[in-house]
Parts: sequence; structure tokens; C-alpha cells
Amino acid sequence: MHNATLKSLSAQLAGRTVSSVELTRHFINRINRLNGKYNCYITLDEGASLKQAEAADRKRAAGSGQALTGIPIAWKDIFCARGWRTTCGSRMLDNFVSPYDAHPVEQFGAAGAVILGKTNMDEFAMGSSSETSHYGPVRNPWDVNAVPGGSSGGSAAAVAARLAPGATGTDTGGSIRQPAALSGICGLKPTYGVVSRYGMIAFASSLDQGGPLARTAEDLALLLNVMAGFDARDSTSLEREREDYARELGRPVKGLKIGLPKEFFAAGAAPGVVKAVEAALAEYRRLGCETVDVGLPNMKLSVPVYYVLAPAEASSNLARYDGVRYGHRAPEYSDLADMYRKTRAQGFGAEVKRRILIGTYVLSHGYYDAYYIQAQKVRRLVARDFAEAFKRCDVIMGPTSPTTAFRIGEKMGDPVQMYLNDIYTIPANLAGLPGLSIPCGFDEKNLPVGLQVIGNHFAEARMLNVAHQYQQATDWHMKVPPGIEIQ
Ligand code: GLN
Repeated sequence: MHNATLKSLSAQLAGRTVSSVELTRHFINRINRLNGKYNCYITLDEGASLKQAEAADRKRAAGSGQALTGIPIAWKDIFCARGWRTTCGSRMLDNFVSPYDAHPVEQFGAAGAVILGKTNMDEFAMGSSSETSHYGPVRNPWDVNAVPGGSSGGSAAAVAARLAPGATGTDTGGSIRQPAALSGICGLKPTYGVVSRYGMIAFASSLDQGGPLARTAEDLALLLNVMAGFDARDSTSLEREREDYARELGRPVKGLKIGLPKEFFAAGAAPGVVKAVEAALAEYRRLGCETVDVGLPNMKLSVPVYYVLAPAEASSNLARYDGVRYGHRAPEYSDLADMYRKTRAQGFGAEVKRRILIGTYVLSHGYYDAYYIQAQKVRRLVARDFAEAFKRCDVIMGPTSPTTAFRIGEKMGDPVQMYLNDIYTIPANLAGLPGLSIPCGFDEKNLPVGLQVIGNHFAEARMLNVAHQYQQATDWHMKVPPGIEIQ
């Protein structure tokens, strides 16, 4: 049951060959048995999950089931869900139980989906390895001594280890696509504004975007259908007509123009990554696609620009954790200022503190123009590069990440090495563009490689079909990590 795609589970629920209670119980049993090995879930609430499953079964019985009714979904612990502990991977929110639902949680609830649990992540989504979590590192199902990527590493590992048929994540600089790549699954970051950020704990608001993780492009489409939608409570949520993201699945890709930015293929990516990506491009050519060279000349500035803008926004967003209203409060202090200081010193981990320091610095008087304003200008140049490139192609392809999964601990001592992981993913966030990652092979260590597809604004349906056509012709997405029994 746990090796079935979300789509086929949906068909089984519709055909009443399995109930949501059976399905949910099956996944909960697996999680209870295997979470010690992967550490991908922070919080489970069996009672709450099964109650939702019973309601879903009643909904199906009454004939009002939808595609996701009864499907258990793993939620990155950055999404507030009413009655659920929501930690954001931080000691600061260790005891925080959300009094309300995030907009995407609300929409999944209305569709009858089941919350299976809350997944582990880098603290406040700051990281590329899921090692900065207060709850310990997540382990990669392909090699338990390697990281699953991050920050949505718990969600990615849960899907890869068949501990959830689908999951949610957030992507500020790559946190959906990069863990999907390193864990051998699929992940999609939608166009900025397509998924509401209401109730999604803020990291860098102008970059943060929620999206789905699953094992196939088809499953991503089903999840995005429920996740996307206008919400007046997020001022950057886009008021657009609802669309069916599965509507283009099945359209041949013959004639599609694939842009290959030379900057994505210049020295930097590991040979095993380049080889798998080149093979994927060859497959697309066999399917009748044409490849054209494009340039993203300002791409090299993306990482430095991101590490000015994201910490600047984070330092402002994280000012709310002051020990007064919710979350951690230092047990002992002398006065108000001391309470703030001790609370924040105890509640935040090292990476979060580093970001707050950088952000406060670049926003401070005298440096604001030199760093923050300058970075905003370069951000615009990166967006312009993409606009130019899309005049010549329909989608852009390249690697999702320069390397496959690295060892736990390998990059924790060197923040710059860690930041460089996102060199291929950050540009799409800066430009607000949709990007997805699908498995396209393995390197010499047998670790999965991800192929990134970047589209123009609102091209999600088309990109999902581009991914789907590849998955019809290849079987990389069907591979199962070692030691996972699939009966
Ligand atoms: N790894 C990047 C960072 O640490 C991106 C994280 C994300 O997308 N949430 O900021």
C-alpha cells in the first residue's frame, strides 16, 4: 500500500477497496516502526489523524469524495495546523500549539485530506541539510549517514521512505526542490503568490512559497490543485481563476524548446550530477524537444544577493519571538530587556542567530543603501535575465543541486559551502518563478540526482506535463531506497 502513488491510492479510496482509516493506520504503523531510523517526523497525533480519516470515509460513503479525500499528508512543521504543535524546528516554538489553520491546511481539510504528522526541518527553514533542527538531523533514506537536503528534509525523507504518499514544504531559496533532488523524489515550488503564506511561519516573506512533494509529477498536480488558491489574508496572494494543474498531462512534448543556461553547466556541478542531467536532456531530445543555449549572466550574483535579502527579511520577521506572547520564555530574568535577551539566546540556534545578525547589519543605518538597496537592484537584474531567456525557450532545465546528498556533519562547520548548495535554485526564488525537481538518475555512490525545470510565471501545468512525459518514458521516479520493503 505504501509504495502506491497518491493517484492510485485516490482510485483505491474511490473504489472502496481500502478505507482512509486503514490507509492512515498503515502509514502510522510504518512511522512508529521507522521514524527512529530517519527522524523525519517531529509530531504525530494518532487520535487526531484517525478522526480525520473516519470523517473522510464518511464523506466518501456519502458520495462527496474528492481526489484527496482520505489521503494522509505529511506537513512540514512550518505550517500552522489548529490543535497541532507547530515548532518550525525551533526550541523557540517547542511548546507552541497553533490556535488556527494555515490557508493550505484549511484547503486540504476542506478536501477531506488527513494530517498524518508534522515533519522535521531546518530551524525556521534556514538550511540546506535539515541539520539545524532543534530535533536532530533527518537521515536520507538512500544512505542514513547522508543528509536528505533541506530545509524541507523531513517531508522529502518521509515521501522517499514511503512514510507518506505526499507532503508539503516551503521554498525560500530551494527548500522544496533541493531536498526532493537529494532524496530522489519530486517537488514543486509554484510561482510566488500562487500558494497563500497565511499561517506559514515567515522566514523571508518576499521569497517564501509553499508547494508539494510527492513521488510523481502527476501526484504533484493533484496536490497543487488543493494547495493553490487566493486568500485575502496574504497580501501577496494572487487573485486568479482556479486552474486544474493536471489539465496538460498527456500532451506530447514534441517541439518543446528547452533553454540550457550555460551558467548551470559551467564548472561547479559534480561529474555524476552533470552526467545524469545530460542523459535526461538526451531523453527529452528523443521525445522531440529542441534544446537552445540561453544565458543568465547575473546568476552568479544570486547567492550573495539572497544572503543579503533573506537574512534582512528574517531579522525583521523573527523580531516577534520576544517571549511575551507565545513560544519560549526564559525562566529567569531581571527585567524586560534581560527577558528578551535570554529568551532569544536560549530559543534560537546558531544558524538562526547568524541570519539575524547579518540581517540586522545590512538593514542598519549607513549600510542599508550599500547592501540592501543594492541587492534589490541586482535581484531585478536576475529577473530580467530570465525574462530574456524565456523569449527563446519554453522551459529552462539544469541540475537542481551541484552535488548529491552529502554526509551528515560534512558542511555544518562551513556556512559558505552550505549556502552554495542553492546556487541553482535561488535564482527562481529571486525572480518569483516556478521550479520543480524530478529524479533523473544516480551518481557513482548510488545517490539520486535531480533535474530542475524552471518555467515562466504561471507555467506550472505545462512544467508538470514536461515532467510527466519524462516519467512516462523513464523509471527513475519508481526506484525505491535500499531496505524499504514494498511487498
Ligand atoms: N538553504 C537556503 C537557506 O538556508 C534556502 C532555505 C529555504 O529555501 N527555506 O536559506
